[in-house]
Parts: sequence; C-alpha cells; structure tokens
Amino acid sequence: MNVLFVSSEVAPFAKSGGLGDISASLPRHLKTIGHDVRVFLPLYGSIDARGTQEIIPGLVFQLGPHEIRVSIVAARLPGSEVPVYFVRCPSLYDRPGLYEQGPDEHLRFAVLCHAALRACQVLRFAPDIAHVNDWQTGLIPLLLKLPPFAGDRFFARTRSLLTIHNIGFQGIFEARHMAECGLAQATTLLHQEDLRAGRLGFLTTGVLHANAITTVSPTYAREIQTPEQGFGLDGLLRQRREVLFGILNGIDEDEWSPERDPHLRHHYSSADLSGKERNKAALLETARLPYQREIPLAAIVSRLAWQKGFDLCMPVLPGILQRRGMQLVVLGTGEKRYHDFFESLSRAFPQQVAFRPTFDENLAHRIEAGADLFLMPSRYEPCGLNQMYSLRYGTVPVVHKTGGLADTVWQYDERSGRGTGFVFEHFDEGGLSWALNRALGVWGTGSGEDRERWIQLQRNGMRLPLGWSHRIDEYVSLYRRLAPEASQ
Ligand code: ADP
Repeated sequence: MNVLFVSSEVAPFAKSGGLGDISASLPRHLKTIGHDVRVFLPLYGSIDARGTQEIIPGLVFQLGPHEIRVSIVAARLPGSEVPVYFVRCPSLYDRPGLYEQGPDEHLRFAVLCHAALRACQVLRFAPDIAHVNDWQTGLIPLLLKLPPFAGDRFFARTRSLLTIHNIGFQGIFEARHMAECGLAQATTLLHQEDLRAGRLGFLTTGVLHANAITTVSPTYAREIQTPEQGFGLDGLLRQRREVLFGILNGIDEDEWSPERDPHLRHHYSSADLSGKERNKAALLETARLPYQREIPLAAIVSRLAWQKGFDLCMPVLPGILQRRGMQLVVLGTGEKRYHDFFESLSRAFPQQVAFRPTFDENLAHRIEAGADLFLMPSRYEPCGLNQMYSLRYGTVPVVHKTGGLADTVWQYDERSGRGTGFVFEHFDEGGLSWALNRALGVWGTGSGEDRERWIQLQRNGMRLPLGWSHRIDEYVSLYRRLAPEASQ
C-alpha cells in the first residue's frame, strides 16, 4: 500500500518524546514488509540539512492573506529505504525549538498539512492511507475533503487515519485564524460548538474527519472516552468509538536491545546478564556516584512534566533514600519545579543521587542498560516507551497503573515468580511509596537467593515480545480494512 505518513517529529531528525521514536520505527517496519511509505515533517532549524536533496524547488499556495512558499528536500530515514520529505520554510521553521507558543503556531502546522498533500500531487504519489499524528497534522483528514485535494484523482482512494499520541495537546487556536489555515470555505465542516466559542481545534478537526482513529494503547483508548481523561474530547470520541482503536506501540529493537545497542560498551542478554552489571558500574562512574553491587540503582528518563507524576516523588523519595540504601540517576528537562526538586535531592544525597538536566540520547540508552529499577509514576501515559525499553533491558519498572503502563507491566508475584514489575493503582504518595518499597523488598540484600529471584524477574520482562514485528500486523490490517481496494 501507499502510505503518506505525516508527523511533527521523526527521530533522529527531530524528537521531543515518544512521537519521534514511533514516527521513525513504524514507517521503517512498514517499509520492511513491502509498503511504500513516505514521511513528511518540517525542516526545523535544528536539523542538519547537509546530505538532503531538493526534490521540489517551489511550492506556492495561498493561506488566507499569506502567500506560502515552501520547498521539499529529501533524505532517507537512517537504517532504511524510507524517503523522508522535509518541508522547508525558513520563516516558519528555522527557530530553536520544535514547538512554540508563538502567534503563528497554527500557521506553522497548517503549512505542514497543506504542503504534504501538495507535494504528493507534484510527486504523483497517490496514498491509500494518509496516516497523520497528533494535533499538528490534524487538519489533513478535513483537507482531503476540500478542494483542491477532494476531486483530485491522486486522492480518490485515500483514507485517513489519525493516531493520538497524547490527548493533552490539542492545538487549540482562535477561530479567527481559520482562513490562515486554509479553512475559510469549510466553516460548516468544523466543530460547531467550538466555533461558537471562538475556537479552532486541530486535533478536534482530525477526530471529526478521520476515517479511523487510533491511540497508542488499548487502555488509553478506553480512558480518553471518559470525562476524567478525555481533556474535553471524550464526548466526541464516544460518538466515534466504532472507528476508534487502541494499538500498542512497538519498540525498535535495532535501536533498543541490550544485545546490539550501538550506545553500549557492554552488551548482554537474558541468558547472560553480566554485561548489565558492567554497564551499571560505568554509568555510576559517569554520574560520579560510588558503585556497590548490592545497592539498587533506580532511574528516571523523562520530560519533566506534570503528566509524568513527579509530584509524587517529592514526598516519597527523600524518606526512601534516607531509610534504604538506594541510588538514583535522573535524566530529564522540563518544568522548573521538577528541576529544582531533583537538583535539591542531588545536593541532599550527593553519594546517592545524580541529576542531568539535559536531553541526551546516548545517556538515555546507558541509563536503561545500567539501572536496576525504572520509575514511571505517570499521572496518565498514552503508551510510554521507557517502561518497554526498561523491560527489554532488564531494568524493572515501577509504574502507575494507567494507559500503556497498565498494558505492558504486570504485577510481580513473589510466590509464583510471575510478573514483570511493580504497579500501583492509586495515584497518590501511598501508592508510589508502596510499590517502590515492594521493589526494594524483593531486591532484598541484592545477593544470594534474593539475587536469583531478581534475575528471574528481569528475565520475565526481557523475554516479552515488545518489538514492532509483533505489532505491525494490527496497523496493516486496519489499513486494509480502511482501503480494501488497495490490497487486492
Ligand atoms: P513522552 O512521549 O510522553 O515523552 P515516552 O515514554 O513515550 O514519553 O517517550 C519518551 C522518549 O523520549 C523516550 O525515547 C525517552 O528515552 C526519550 N527522552 C525523554 N527525555 C529524554 C532526555 N532528557 N534525554 C534523552 N531522551 C529522553
């Protein structure tokens, strides 16, 4: 099938979180099994454009008062034959960050949507599926119903699929920007209540018009239909529940597996975990913390955001660090209050805690390989990748039972020896404290029988089928259901 895949992040070119990983690994796997997938994203200022090739020098179109001029430059997704098409428009994208709260944010991503479809016309690429991701690409399902795209034979068979990676971000703008988004003629097709309230929602528009909607785990697909977790879109999603599916993300095992991770000095497997211990010693050296085999090392790699539940760490971690010998390595950037907290924790426990307030892909891999425990107390978590990376690396996750965390981490049961981590149900400090103390209890002395038990727990997680090869069929069969003629 021909798949147009549009996303605001594609690793390694642009990544702020899981969306970047998935927008690379899913197309790569689709290509491996024979589909013609083309990926579009903006050419942000942070992307090194050397080695790219200009394939469409000038695309000019009108969005309200603006004459938009973009060009398309192409590269390959590393490690694959997938063509990546960058939308080049320096006045909109040549800025330090991927996202901004600026006055033209709507225009930046409206241009991405229009440019991707116009480029398909120029390239004579007729997509069977337009797979769009999150609010930044949410206008595409509607644009396909409007001129000049509706009626164009290149889009005659195109069906749209919107994947919601995080419903907490919806791209809500003032309705007066409608014309600048190229929607002046589409008033009746927009969400009418929103319009009356003076709003234009990119994600809402996608939810209204996509032929199907997926989100990144079955539990999250149910959660976003509730008022508590739907961020205002639950009603609309309930109306569309017949075409709403939860498909768990897969992980890219070429990038993330302890047997061949290029970022690791010491490789290891579930059969022989000795390399993991060497990674732990190396990581602690990097973090300038003393290494002692029997002391458990916990880790956090995350955006430091409200969603991720670090408010629970504030009352819980100091006591645990004081009472129980535990070390902690934290890698993350984000909100100042969490920076301040982890900073003060590392000052109060200089032998136990290291905080790295940066975005560092290499260190993220080395932390996954070197830590014993991984903390992910997310308030909500659509899918979550780090708990899956952790499982794969024998780094036992401690998680809140929500979204994709609930679908991937199974409570460890000491009697049966089954389960893959420690899961707390109630999002409060008692919950986190209970789960972390249980984990430390199972760790025990970190030697002898306790060690044997721990290794069994690690192996349970390491042997789970988490790679895309186990998931890709779910997307492909959905594509086929949406575009049955394409698969004849
Ligand atoms: P989200 O998409 O909500 O941020 P996920 O768990 O789905 O959460 O994906 C997070 C991704 O971002 C993972 O690949 C993780 O390793 C990466 N990541 C987050 N923060 C950092 C950081 N400071 N340095 C390196 N990688 C990070």
